[in-house]
Order: sequence, then structure tokens, then C-alpha cells
Amino acid sequence: MRVVIAGGGIGGLTAALALHQRGIDVQVYESVRRLEPLGVGINILPFSMAVLRDLGLLDRLLELGLSNGELRFYNRHGQLVWAETRGADAGYGTPQLSIHRGRLQMVLLDAVVERLGADAVRTGCGLQGFESGDRSVRIELADRASGGTVHDEADLLIGADGIHSFTRARLNPGEGDPLWEGSLVWRGTTVAPSFLSGRTMIMAGHIPHKFIAYPITAPDAEGRQLINWIAVLDWRAQGLPAREDWTRQGRYKDFLPRFEGWRFEWLDVPALIAGADAFYEFPLVDRDPLPRWTHGRVTLLGDAAHPMYPVGSNGASQAIIDAVTLADALADGGDTGIDAALAHYESVRRPATAAIVAANRQQGAERILDLAEERAPDGFTSIDDVFAPGELQSIADSYKQLIGLQKPADPREL
Ligand SMILES: Cc1cc2nc3c(=O)[nH]c(=O)nc-3n(C[C@H](O)[C@H](O)[C@H](O)COP(=O)(O)OP(=O)(O)OC[C@H]3O[C@@H](n4cnc5c(N)ncnc54)[C@H](O)[C@@H]3O)c2cc1C
Repeated sequence: MRVVIAGGGIGGLTAALALHQRGIDVQVYESVRRLEPLGVGINILPFSMAVLRDLGLLDRLLELGLSNGELRFYNRHGQLVWAETRGADAGYGTPQLSIHRGRLQMVLLDAVVERLGADAVRTGCGLQGFESGDRSVRIELADRASGGTVHDEADLLIGADGIHSFTRARLNPGEGDPLWEGSLVWRGTTVAPSFLSGRTMIMAGHIPHKFIAYPITAPDAEGRQLINWIAVLDWRAQGLPAREDWTRQGRYKDFLPRFEGWRFEWLDVPALIAGADAFYEFPLVDRDPLPRWTHGRVTLLGDAAHPMYPVGSNGASQAIIDAVTLADALADGGDTGIDAALAHYESVRRPATAAIVAANRQQGAERILDLAEERAPDGFTSIDDVFAPGELQSIADSYKQLIGLQKPADPREL
């Protein structure tokens, strides 16, 4: 069996490694000329870390990132609303990883090149056409270097080509641009002194005036860490900026003044923002779930299949689960069972991810913050005056259940 993957992002590269591990021949085509460590921080949930562990990457990732130990929600006055342990600290068999997105992508790329060979990822080759027959798919790519066209043929084409997926657009003509929720998001990284436990992720405020921060490296000799941060503001009055672009630089004047008063004893938010090397802006977008992912011998994976709001650390985590689910199904079915494998993959992953897209539109467990603001806009004396007994736990648990983050009875299962 030969599989072609369009897109060398986290989803596409994980799929390449998982397929190769199961003895399946893979070729990746990536449209950019050179894969570089772009982006800022990203968070990978324990069940997805188990996949990366099984691909032999856990130690390397922990060297480059940080095992997240705690999640805390605060209102915009800096009062603690909810706290829970995370990852290995919460009893999962694998950690929850906070890491620079580009570093994670480079670890995956290095592993693909080492295991599959340097030619397994062909950069500068963007998918621009395909035609699926009953048993194979013909693929056409634009070769940036020569300005010419590259042709390939495979048993299966996986479109892992991100939120602006060509594959998805070709299969769903007329779908149009991603849907904008009305918020603008600024993401940056700052080297700053550790805050709280040094392994804590915080979310403060509420939609649409929110701040998220978490460290993505271990402390250096001076106790400083690279801290990833995200600021969210309502941007409806200003209107949707041009098509979202992860490399578009933001401007302090657009958002820093709105966080000026957020100097808490546990974190000085304006100082963190002001210390950034660089930060990027993009609108908060997703897409409606599709009625199907697979058309003949073409299917979708990751953001191409289910772009979702960046809530609950699910974007890359779910792409990784897509990759291993598809690889397992194809390996189980063998050359004769490809269509059944695709049907199985879609029957498992499409409803699961559609439910997360919907839950993330309601802010997932971060809904706790919106409720706190709604019920106690001026703050509270005791959180017990704001939430009924067990209410916070129940919101947090039901979102975990939905995304597949139930704690196994035996942590070694993860
Ligand atoms: C440059 C960049 C920076 C990001 N930064 C962050 C971040 O800081 N924090 C965060 O949480 N998430 C970030 N993300 C998104 C996050 O990586 C994804 O949501 C998640 O990992 C899902 O991965 P994916 O592989 O499905 O999609 P992506 O990571 O988007 O990867 C898709 C890949 O497909 C390639 N591609 C696109 N069109 C074609 C085509 N026609 N043919 C071949 N290849 C094509 C793209 O160049 C890209 O490499 C970023 C994505 C990108 C592309």
C-alpha cells in the first residue's frame, strides 16, 4: 500500500511516522519550500502524548518542552475560580506537554527523515489537483523550484493541509472561508521569571476579554522560562482582518492597553506582554463540521478535517489521534481493506471531532470563566457563593469526557 500525504504539519508528519511504523509506504508533499520552526506555544494532551511516546519521541519532546502540571482559571480581578492538576501530576500515564509548536514539528520532521529517508518529505510541492478512481488516486502538485508540475499516484491521498486545505476545498466546492467568531487573538512568547508552580497554565478573564499563559521550557539558571501567552479581545467593531496568517505581526497598541490593569500577585500580565520578542495576530476561526471526509481514495486529517477554536488544547492533540486511528485502521485492513479502513476511521473520528468543534464554540471547560463573570462581575468573597457544590467539577469533567481525556483506572494504559 502506498499513501501520499499533502501537508507536513503536525498531523501530516505524525501520520507519516505512524503509517511507516505499521509497514506502509508513505510520501509527504509540503507546499512551503522549507519547513521551519514557526509558531509559538502549543499544548499536547496526555492521550496524544501516548501516541508520540509509542513513536519513540517522548524523551526528546520532554527535553525541548515542559510537562504541564496544573491548570488554573482566574477571573479578570485575579481571583482563583478553579484549579486542577494535569498530565502525569493528575495520574495519567503520560505527561501533558507544553512546547514551541515549531520545535515539535522539527522533532517529527527529523524522525521522518531519519526513518523514512530524506526524500520522504518533498517540500516546495503544493497539492493542486487529484482524481480518485475506485482503487487509486492520481495526484498533481505544483513544484515551486521548477515552476513545473509533479505527478504521483497512490492507493490513498490524505489531505493534512491545514485550515486552508486545498483538499477540503476541492471536495467541498463552495464552502468558502473559515468562520469568524468575532474575536482577535494575539499570541507571543516572552522570556520571563517563572510564575506559580513554574508548570502552571493559567486562563484569566472571560470571552471576549481573556488572557492565557503557560511556560514552554524548563527554567534556566536564573529561574526564567519561555512563556507562551495568548490575549483575546472582541474585534467585531473593527471587522475581520485579511485572511488569517500565523506570521502576521501584531501591534501593542491594539491590545496591551486593555490588559493594563491586570497586574496580579501571581502574574504581571502587561509586563509579560511587553517583554515579548515577537507576537502574531489572527482571528478566531473554525469551520462547520463536514457531512463526510472520505471521497473515494481521498480523506482528510487534522485542521483540514476539523478546524476548531483553540480551546482545551485540542488542535494538534486531535490531529495526532486522527493520524494513529487512520494508520491502525489501514494496517488492520491491509491492501484489500482500504475502503473499509477509511469508513472505520471516519466513523470514529468525524463524530468525535464534530462534538469538540461544537463544545469549543461554547468555550469547553473555559465556560467556567464566562459563568463566573456573568454571576459575579465585580468578583466574590467565596467561590462557593458563585457556583453550586460540585458544579465546577462537573463542567470540567464533562468536557474531559467529551474530548477523550478520561483518566484510565490503570495509568499504564495511557
Ligand atoms: C505556520 C503555522 C504556525 C502555527 N502556529 C501555531 C501556534 O503557535 N500555536 C498553535 O496552537 N497552533 C499553531 N498552528 C496550528 C497547529 O499547528 C494546528 O492546528 C495543528 O497542529 C493541526 O495540525 P495540521 O497538521 O492539521 O495543520 P497545520 O499545522 O496547519 O499543517 C498543515 C501543513 O500543510 C501545508 N500545506 C498547506 N496547503 C498545502 C498544499 N496544497 N499542499 C501541500 N501542503 C500544504 C502547510 O504549509 C502546513 O505545513 C500553526 C500552524 C501553522 C501552519
